[in-house]
Amino acid sequence: MIVYPRILLAVDLSDESDQLISKACNIASNNNAELSVIHVIEPLSFAYGGDVPMDLSTTQDQLSEHATKNLAQFCEKLDYPVSEQLVITGHTESEIHRVAQEKSIDLIVVGSHGRHGLALLLGSTANGVLHGAPCDVLAVRVFSE
Ligand code: AMP
Repeated sequence: MIVYPRILLAVDLSDESDQLISKACNIASNNNAELSVIHVIEPLSFAYGGDVPMDLSTTQDQLSEHATKNLAQFCEKLDYPVSEQLVITGHTESEIHRVAQEKSIDLIVVGSHGRHGLALLLGSTANGVLHGAPCDVLAVRVFSE
C-alpha cells in the first residue's frame, strides 16, 4: 500500500545527514515515491542584520553554488533516484513548509537530535518543521558525531 507518494528529505549537509539516508531511501522505496531533497541556506542578511554596509549578494551566490555541489554529492550516496535537488535561500523551517505545500509533499523527513531540557526549549529545526507542517513529518533520530 502506497501511503507517501511524494517525500521531501531535508538535509543540513553536515556529516550527520548521512544518518538519514537509509531510512529515507527505505521509505521512498517501500512507497515507490518521488523523492526530493532540500537544503536551505539562511540569508547572510539574517545573520548580520539588515544594516551591513556592503553588498552580500556575491557571497550569497557563492554559498548557494557550493551548497548545490555538496547536495549533488550527498544525493550520489542515496541508493534511490532523486527526482529533484533543491537549494533554496530563506528561513529553513518556512521554506521547507512552503516547498512541501507547493509540491504536494506527503512526508517530510528530518533529522532529530532528541534534545531535551533547555535545548528543547530553545528549539530545533525538527521541532520547527513539525509545527505548521502541511503533511506528516518523520523525525529520524541522529547522533552527534
Ligand atoms: P538541527 O535541529 O538544526 O540540528 O537540524 C535537524 C535536522 O533539520 C537536520 O538533520 C535536517 O533534517 C534539518 N535541517 C537543519 N538545517 C537544515 C537546512 N539548512 N536545510 C534543510 N534541512 C535542515
